[in-house]
Amino acid sequence: TMILGIETSCDETAAAVVENGTVIRSNAVSSQIDIHRRFGGVVPEVASRHHVDQITVICEEALNQSGITWEDLDAIAVTQGPGLIGALLVGVNGAKALAYVHGLPLVPVHHITGHIYANRFVHELEFPLIALVVSGGHTELVSMKEHGSYEVIGTTRDDAAGEAFDKVARTLGLPYPGGPEIDRMAQGGRPSIDFPRAWLEEGSLDFSFSGLKSAVINYVHNEQQRGHELNSTDIAASFQESVSEVLVKKTMYAAKQMRARQILVAGGVSANSKVRSEMEKAARAQGIPLVIPPLSLCTDNAAMIAASGTIGFLKGARADLSLNGKASLAIEDF
Ligand code: ATP
Ligand code: MG
Ligand code: FE
Repeated sequence: TMILGIETSCDETAAAVVENGTVIRSNAVSSQIDIHRRFGGVVPEVASRHHVDQITVICEEALNQSGITWEDLDAIAVTQGPGLIGALLVGVNGAKALAYVHGLPLVPVHHITGHIYANRFVHELEFPLIALVVSGGHTELVSMKEHGSYEVIGTTRDDAAGEAFDKVARTLGLPYPGGPEIDRMAQGGRPSIDFPRAWLEEGSLDFSFSGLKSAVINYVHNEQQRGHELNSTDIAASFQESVSEVLVKKTMYAAKQMRARQILVAGGVSANSKVRSEMEKAARAQGIPLVIPPLSLCTDNAAMIAASGTIGFLKGARADLSLNGKASLAIEDF
């Protein structure tokens, strides 16, 4: 199967061609990070406009670089949601136009299933598996018993992990997006500050990061009030250690409970060097195979949407030209 994937849920306009759900033939991304940086975050209206600017070019680029023609495609897969509604609509309408013109089936994709399926470019999925989804808008433990079947067994009660990274970075005066900046800053620091870990109730698979975020902000304000120079590298390292410890322990607990044959990590925060190294250590100690995407496939891209769309296509998922973007969407429905 040859699938064109299209992704516009946030601030990257992306299109990619994927063969058999496992081989990336092309992967074109136009990132708006430089545009949004001066606002300190993604401005939805600005994002939509740039998607409109880029969508045609990026789709053509994906097709040109793939070495195939429109006739070789089996379907077009597009992110239906969740995400910024104005941004999603550009991808959905672009996909509908291309599907109509070229007479191709249209497959709706849930963005988070895309993040999960980025792992299939690294290793074939083996079930049952546990996926830790850690992105800008999500922190979830997802249990999968077969391809294209998702059950959320834990979720955040407040902030997403990526959101916490971005807010702490802003408190430290670092630019958007904050995750990579904190990661870099932490390299030179020691985790010497005892920030809280929210374990919640005994056995809970849910997460909470707002207490940690407040603790970091309070610590920074106290230091500033006392006229101390900020030990930003230690703050970054301590914050990162607190986040990764909770993520790793809860994921391992879930994996043992579900007798998982594989652990996947998905979403932008899976690019974090501390999360990657601690997950690797823990999974090795437990003897459970771990898969994490390469850095380029951790954040938003369309290859992952085509990969998940391949499963949807094979299962018969189809949308007609009434398909609409949705800001929020349940993963269980995909
Ligand atoms: P969602 O996927 O939930 O809809 P999104 O698409 O905006 O949200 P992603 O693109 O998956 O999110 O990930 C972006 C997030 O990943 C940002 O919060 C960013 O700070 C974070 N991130 C990226 N690289 C790193 C890193 N090295 N360490 C920590 N966080 C990172
Ligand atoms: Mg993004
Ligand atoms: Fe994402």
